[in-house]
Amino acid sequence: MTLGEVRSYLKELALEPIKSLGQNFLHDQNLARWMVSELSLDCRDHVVELGPGLGALTEYLVQAGVGRLTVVEKDGRLASALVRRLGNSFHVIQADAARVDLLGLYGFGRVEVIGNLPYYATSSILMRFLDRLSPATRLIFAVQRELAHRLVAVPHTREYGEMAVYIQHRWKIRFLRNLPPSVFYPKPKVDSAIILFTPRKVIPFCDEVLFERIVHRGFSERRKQLRKLLGNTNGVWEKFSAERKISPLARAEELSPTDYAELVFRLSPFHPQTVAAHVEEFDVVDFQNRVVTRSPCLKVHAKGLPHRSVHILIQNRAGKWFLQKRSLWKDSNPGKWDSSVAGHLRAGEGYETAARRELREELGITECNWLGKKGSLQASSETGWEFIEVFYTQQEGPFTLMPMETDTGAFFEEGTIRRWVQREPELFSPTFLQCFDLVVNNH
Ligand code: SAM
Repeated sequence: MTLGEVRSYLKELALEPIKSLGQNFLHDQNLARWMVSELSLDCRDHVVELGPGLGALTEYLVQAGVGRLTVVEKDGRLASALVRRLGNSFHVIQADAARVDLLGLYGFGRVEVIGNLPYYATSSILMRFLDRLSPATRLIFAVQRELAHRLVAVPHTREYGEMAVYIQHRWKIRFLRNLPPSVFYPKPKVDSAIILFTPRKVIPFCDEVLFERIVHRGFSERRKQLRKLLGNTNGVWEKFSAERKISPLARAEELSPTDYAELVFRLSPFHPQTVAAHVEEFDVVDFQNRVVTRSPCLKVHAKGLPHRSVHILIQNRAGKWFLQKRSLWKDSNPGKWDSSVAGHLRAGEGYETAARRELREELGITECNWLGKKGSLQASSETGWEFIEVFYTQQEGPFTLMPMETDTGAFFEEGTIRRWVQREPELFSPTFLQCFDLVVNNH
C-alpha cells in the first residue's frame, strides 16, 4: 500500500491508528516485498505473520503461495478488515502475539515468522518466539533500531547485555538494514531496523537452566566483578578465566555467549553425571533378546550391538500426548522429537525398573502408580539395534525437565502429531511413530 492508500483506507474504515498498540503502518512497497523475499519461501512453508495491521506484508505473503499463512493480530478491527481486503486464504488468530498458543502452530510445515513488530511488545514477542518450545525455524522482524543494536551487540560494548547473551546462545542474528521513520504512517519518533534470526548449527554444551541463572546474575550488577557475583566456585572461575585468557576481575559484559556456556558447563552439577552416563554399561543381547554380555554404552552404540530400551507415552486427562524434544547433546537422535520418555536399560536392569527410572530422570516423575505395557519392537537397524518395550501411563504435568536429557516438551493433540509426522518425518526419532501407534492402537 502506498502512503495515499494507507491514509484513505484508514479513512474508509473510520480508524485512527492506536499509539499504544504501536500502529505505524509500512507504506514502502519495495521494502515490504524485499522483506518477504528475504525468507525465500516455498509451498511447504507455514508462515506466521505477527501484527499484520493493514496487510503491508500480508499481501506479498499471500502472493508467495506458501503452504499455510497464519496471521496474529491483537486489534480485532484490523483483523476483520484484513480478511475483507485480502480474502480468506489465510488463518487469522486474534490474540496477543506474546501469548499466542505456540503448540497450535506445529504440524503445518516449517515455520517461518515475519513481522513489523509493535515497539512496546517487541521483547516479550521475541522471548516467546525464540523460546525452546517455539516451532520457528527462521524469523525476520522490523524492530526499533536501538533494540536491534542491543541484539547483535558483542562483548565489551555498552549495548551488550543479558538479552543478547540469551538469544545469541541459540540464534545467529543478522542486522539486515536500517529503516527511517518516513517509511511508516504515522511516522514513529525513532529509527527501525530489520533483523534476521537463524538457528545456530552448533550450540555449546551446557545446562541451559543454569546458563540463564548465571547470565542473569552477572548482568544484575553490571559494574560488579563476575567472580564476586558467582561466589565461591571452588577454583572453577580462576581456572576458567586463566585458560580462556579472561581477566579474573572481568565483569559480565566481557564474556561471550560461548564463554558463558563453557563456564556453566564447568560449574554444572550435571557434569559428573553426564560423564558417568558415557561410561555406563548396557546388557548386550542376542537376536532372541537374551543377555550375552555387558559392554560400555559408547562401545555398544559404536559397534551397533543389540541392546534394550524403553519408550513411555504419557497422556493427560484431556487426551493429549506428551512429546519430548531430545537434548541437542544426546549421542543418538539429538534434537529430535520423541516419545514422552525414552532411554536404555542399564546392565542387569529390567524393563519396568528402567521405565520408572527414566520417568524420574527425564521428567522428574517420582509418583507413577500405573504403568501399562503396550507392546514391543524387535531390534533392527531402524530401532538402532534396540529391543524396545513400550509403556503407557497417565500424568498431568507440569514436569521438571532435566536440562541435559530433554530440550523441551509439551502435550500435543493426536491430530497435530499425526499431521506433523507426516509432513516433517525428519524431525522425529526413527522409532517414535511405531511406538506411538503401538500405544494408540492398543488403547
Ligand atoms: N505489519 C503492519 C505493517 O507493516 O504495516 C503493521 C505493523 S504495526 C508496527 C504493528 C501491528 O501489530 C499493528 O497492526 C498492531 O495492531 C499489532 N499489534 C500490537 N500489539 C500486538 C500484539 N501484542 N500482538 C499482536 N499484534 C499486535
